[in-house]
Amino acid sequence: MSQPVEKGTLYVISAPSGAGKTSLVGEMIRADHRLGVSVSHTTRPMRQGEQDGINYHFVSREQFEAMILRDEFLEHADVFGNYYGTSQVWVEQMLARGRDVILEIDWQGAAQVRRLLPDCVGIFIVPPSAAVLRARLTGRGTDSPEVVERRLSEAAEECRHALEFDYLVVNDDFGEALSELLSIVTTQRLRMDRQEKRHARLLSELMDSGRQE
Ligand code: 5GP
Repeated sequence: MSQPVEKGTLYVISAPSGAGKTSLVGEMIRADHRLGVSVSHTTRPMRQGEQDGINYHFVSREQFEAMILRDEFLEHADVFGNYYGTSQVWVEQMLARGRDVILEIDWQGAAQVRRLLPDCVGIFIVPPSAAVLRARLTGRGTDSPEVVERRLSEAAEECRHALEFDYLVVNDDFGEALSELLSIVTTQRLRMDRQEKRHARLLSELMDSGRQE
């Protein structure tokens, strides 16, 4: 008889925009094939270079609201005027198959997931300083001062929720931040509550080994 599959771990990763979260998560899943990232649904318009079904599932407000009514979201939130949400079925199926799942979501969604699934692991990523954040969000200077100011105040609002997370990663050096994120994943996998099931036979063998002498 096959062993029941051990459930995967759910990682909730939030950050102000400009922290490098999406690039870091992309590298995490390339580096570790046991990790998968959930593709959210959103009502925001597609940006240049984005692909439907890859970056997001792009849907209309009507479609999104119908999904809310059908209870299809694990969490959903209005983030600066657009809806964003995580498919409940996809996440549950992946976790049930033993895959570790990353949700790249805002602090409001993270709070909802934490209430529903208290075992999830929350990680908050920040840039190394307010000056770096400002420089990253100001971009090439092609946006109006109002747009830049709005982005900065949205980023500050996200940062005000950092303490609600379990881990804080500062993205100063990309490679270092990536290795810190992968270390968090390794640490979770080494926790006794997971290892005791995975290595039950080894542990009982070791505990009984003194009897043979
Ligand atoms: P962007 O439109 O720049 O891709 O994302 C804007 C914000 O929405 C980011 O903070 C991102 O983490 C958040 N976000 C993306 N997907 C989801 C989701 O499924 N749920 C929630 N609550 N936030 C999301």
